[in-house]
Amino acid sequence: MHRRDLCKLAGKVGLVALAAQVPWSWLERAGLLGDYLAEAALPQNYLINAGTVLFSGNNGIAGLTTNSKSFGPGTTAGTDNTNPLYIKTAGNTKSLKVTIDATAGQTAHNLEWTINKSFEREGGTFGIWIAAPAALASTLDLSIFISSAPFSKYFLASGTLTRYRAQKDVQWNYVSWHRDSMSNTGSESWTNTMTRVRVQILMPAGQSGDVYVDTGYYGVYGRPKVLFTFDDGYASALTEGYAYMSTRGLRGAVGVNSALVGGASRLTVADCDTLYAAGWDMLSHSTSHVNQTSLTQSARLLDIQTNQAYLTSKGWTRAARQYIYPNGAYDAAVIADLRTCGYDTAWSVNDKIQYAIKGLWPEQMGLGRYATDIALSLATLKGYVNNAIAVGGTVTFYSHDILVGAGAAATERSTFRGLVDYVAPLVAAGVMDNPTCSEWVRGLTNPRRPRSAS
Ligand SMILES: [Zn+2]
Repeated sequence: MHRRDLCKLAGKVGLVALAAQVPWSWLERAGLLGDYLAEAALPQNYLINAGTVLFSGNNGIAGLTTNSKSFGPGTTAGTDNTNPLYIKTAGNTKSLKVTIDATAGQTAHNLEWTINKSFEREGGTFGIWIAAPAALASTLDLSIFISSAPFSKYFLASGTLTRYRAQKDVQWNYVSWHRDSMSNTGSESWTNTMTRVRVQILMPAGQSGDVYVDTGYYGVYGRPKVLFTFDDGYASALTEGYAYMSTRGLRGAVGVNSALVGGASRLTVADCDTLYAAGWDMLSHSTSHVNQTSLTQSARLLDIQTNQAYLTSKGWTRAARQYIYPNGAYDAAVIADLRTCGYDTAWSVNDKIQYAIKGLWPEQMGLGRYATDIALSLATLKGYVNNAIAVGGTVTFYSHDILVGAGAAATERSTFRGLVDYVAPLVAAGVMDNPTCSEWVRGLTNPRRPRSAS
């Protein structure tokens, strides 16, 4: 095969797929090896732009302009970390370790890097690898400042924008945000050359521990995704969810509790078969919807395994390694037992866009979802979709019963339909993808999306 033909084929199916189809030596001789390695090294197939390093954790404390306590009654210290457990970037030998004792009250520490960069013509995303103290009981807030005149004027990302939720077991999180959602103090402008980045870590009152900061990036972008999940197996997942979504090219997943299947207003086995045959996933949502953190370990293992065996017996196995926490409740013991039973992915009710594109796995047992239930307006839900598109992330929705005149714990039909009407054209136009839960996880590593044929 000529190089020209190989390149053409690579353009169609992607180099990784091509490499599985032709002798390795062909790629070498065609000079495609470098391209192959670059493509194969991507964390998964969702990454469109790997971004550029904003600051490197590998420079450690020596790379900082400022390393000091910001405010609060407690003590803080920023030091070099060389423990490989807390180094995220492959090949690096260092990251930053910030130790904060906030026993006496909320205390914050500032890390600042000097930069010399205009972001006016760059993609609008920023992101930083942060690892949390495993034992941190509550959330940890971050504020990220970017300034051209430190810090008389600045852009600020904090609070609900990219609120960092400490994961309960493992630690690295890629905290990402879009510049359009940063607040502006002192008439800062993106046309200015930015000269300073500040990462402010705010330890909540009464807590103490170590927080690790690795490399920061700008311009990272992945293919946006939207996922729909339906908890507790309400019949309306079929009669409203499937009925409205299927004619608009969308699919979803059901959180199944075996003790509820066939009950009043719930899906029957035949209903689940219909959904599964239509490509929908069935995920375990516990046997009878008991809060898993309230159980003894033996009772919890029994509950997990009972529902797992039920799903397996019905042949609903595409998402057999994924779990949805009943009541969104989990802790390290629940995670450990799920892992014992073979689960490697679990969905919570943490509100957040999932930034899987820089690597999901540190957070895979605490994936974020947004409720569509009555407390949230259609405008709010559309905002989550817009945010996922802006940052190249994944927005996952979860619904309970879908009703006309829904109460607080159910989704209003018009809101649900409005959301589907909003998403469907975006998916049809290729602005975002709508995988099922199993497709989403599988696609993180394999198979890759073929390159476009153009
Ligand atoms: Zn539930």
